[in-house]
Amino acid sequence: MAVEGLEQFRKAGKMASQARAYGVGLIKPGASLFEVSEKIEEKILSLGGGLAFPVQISINEIAAHYCAAPDDKTVLKEGDLAKLDLGVHVDGYVADTAITVDLSKDSKYNNLVKASEEALQNVIKIIKPGVTLGEIGRTIQDSITKYNFSPIRNIGGHGVGKYTVHGPPSIPNIDTGDKTKLSEDDTVAIEPFATTGAGMIYEKDNSNIFMMIGKKSARNMMTREVMKEIERFNGLPFTERWIVKKGISLAKVNFALRELDNLGILRSFPPLPDKNKGMVSQAEHTLIVTKDGCEVITR
Ligand code: MN
Ligand code: MN
Repeated sequence: MAVEGLEQFRKAGKMASQARAYGVGLIKPGASLFEVSEKIEEKILSLGGGLAFPVQISINEIAAHYCAAPDDKTVLKEGDLAKLDLGVHVDGYVADTAITVDLSKDSKYNNLVKASEEALQNVIKIIKPGVTLGEIGRTIQDSITKYNFSPIRNIGGHGVGKYTVHGPPSIPNIDTGDKTKLSEDDTVAIEPFATTGAGMIYEKDNSNIFMMIGKKSARNMMTREVMKEIERFNGLPFTERWIVKKGISLAKVNFALRELDNLGILRSFPPLPDKNKGMVSQAEHTLIVTKDGCEVITR
């Protein structure tokens, strides 16, 4: 990763942490996922940031990638464990951050939330040039198993870059023995997930999150209209809500997305629940590897 963009990363990180704090204040029993998601996205835009990807609020056994649809009726309730995951970009440079909010009355999930948070803090302590991906994974695994929970093995951290949310390297949440080293100026997101369940997620239900991965011409007028809107996202992930807002009906949007998917130019990201329906917590920060440590930009 070139040193270029570090100032933009820092700005994006600062806005992401402000938006996260704002979002945590909205995540309450009775709040609708649709409204909370829209408000957080409006906040990011009002701070001057770009939306690096749609706001996601994943509840209970869903680890990630639950994004409110335009007609989503889901309401948060007491006892829920909600993961808020959001991304901000400045000139394309992405900051990605997440936090878990325990809506149980008696802080029932206190230890589960602490497990992923501590795992993240412990990784931040060891990151410097030369640290290996295996060492990061081992630190996460040890921190979470200490609480008698399981890390989620098939989801993890990643590099971030210009108009890139999920770039190399893939950063494991378990000790894979991977000897790949991080270098100074690498920009990465670290995201431990802790669960009471299997520690394996799978793709379930339809996706509301999409990303354009190629270009092809579509013949259908509706599809072309939707494609024109999608091209404005510069290859970053997007959701139906953003297109409906441009005055295109949900039926049209869904038709076009299906056609674009069939043309092979979309990637979709369905919700990711734990295989055994265990409860899941997540913590995530984006950081820059410095000469002798790291700078957490979403602190
Ligand atoms: Mn994230
Ligand atoms: Mn991430």
